[in-house]
Amino acid sequence: MAGVGDGASAAEREVVDLCRELIAIDTSNYGDHSGPGERAAAEYVAGKLDEVGVEPALYESHPGRTSVVARIPGEDPGRAPLLVHGHLDVVPADAADWTHDPFGGEIVDGCVWGRGAVDMKDMDAMVLAVLRERMREGRRPPRDIVLAFLADEEAGGTWGARWLVDQHPGLFADCSEAISEVGGFSVTVGENRRLYLVETAEKGIAWMRLVARGTAGHGSMTNDDNAVTELAEAVARLGRHRFPVRLTKTVRTFLEEVCAEFGIEFDENDVEDTVARLGSVATMIGATLRHTVNPTVLDGGYKANVIPGTATAQVDGRFLPGLEEEYFAEIDRLLGPKVRREFIHHLPSVETEFEGGIVTAMSEALLAEDPGAKAVPYCLSGGTDAKSFQSLGIRNYGFAPLRLPPELNFAGMFHGVDERVPIDGLRFGVRVLDRFIGMS
Ligand SMILES: [Zn+2]
Repeated sequence: MAGVGDGASAAEREVVDLCRELIAIDTSNYGDHSGPGERAAAEYVAGKLDEVGVEPALYESHPGRTSVVARIPGEDPGRAPLLVHGHLDVVPADAADWTHDPFGGEIVDGCVWGRGAVDMKDMDAMVLAVLRERMREGRRPPRDIVLAFLADEEAGGTWGARWLVDQHPGLFADCSEAISEVGGFSVTVGENRRLYLVETAEKGIAWMRLVARGTAGHGSMTNDDNAVTELAEAVARLGRHRFPVRLTKTVRTFLEEVCAEFGIEFDENDVEDTVARLGSVATMIGATLRHTVNPTVLDGGYKANVIPGTATAQVDGRFLPGLEEEYFAEIDRLLGPKVRREFIHHLPSVETEFEGGIVTAMSEALLAEDPGAKAVPYCLSGGTDAKSFQSLGIRNYGFAPLRLPPELNFAGMFHGVDERVPIDGLRFGVRVLDRFIGMS
């Protein structure tokens, strides 16, 4: 591990400990309040803010499900604040699968290891480190910053971002833009050339329950109205369906930038080859070329010789920004008249422009720390708390800057085994974020 020279800022020195200590607080989210909750992590963060004169407020949506919100005054109170948010919860980890303790926060081979190292206690730590240093040094940001460290993102934000937006909208209502996770990381595309993927869009989420109703009866008799048969056929139609490529504005811009980097012609009919050039990140990008729907659960019947009156299934659907209507029209066509659908979980897509002062600030902050950097917009196939903040009219960007070594399978780290973040990447992120905040 490279040492930090004497020129390193306090934030660069502190960020590693903050990240390790946050990882060591188990905030596993099982989606049903059965985990440890976020309270201990929220109190830790509140303490770190309190130490430097920021007054945090704790909000608890359910016992132990705690979020922290604070406001740091900027030089120009007339400007709309910037929201900087991160979630404190993590997905569970089975220690038996890991090389190092997922809640140990150990440093091995120049990386901080543990659940949350990239999703997203790294960014939580970077934000804390930067703002603590700014507060200690009396360096005010140009505009107010609203800080939010949130519970429950990994289960859709119901008890975190969504709850705060519904119950305390005034905390965020005047914010114009937000930055948070799953963006700002580097993808190496050539000798000393890196694209930094800034998230400007997210697919929408439609987890659906499918219900087929038929005529119940004895398994030995003829039955033309069998719910299990209807359901099985509909599920198979969905599972086998391949939606066509649909290039949204964000994905088109992204692919054009990638083609320009590789010096190849942008061919709308051959986007999959372009995506394949991106190495491990291709799995992330590939899913944003088209809508998807995947069957995940089947349930029907209770005895081999009894035809049940109903059969159900669950599917995980993801639709592209701006194309929700066409998506559900196609889903309904595939389901046919005998199977109806209901939502288990339905969250909107997100999309904003990759332009304006905030994007200039991101690009310039990256360039100042990495002369080989180019910021490009991309669409995330999953979802984040941006979905909740978008409902307040806030423009959302995934910008948690990390310069990564080319060999690291970063996309595979999210919710993966042996999640870890390079220490050099954390320190790079601190420098970029500090510059960004100064320019935003
Ligand atoms: Zn996350």
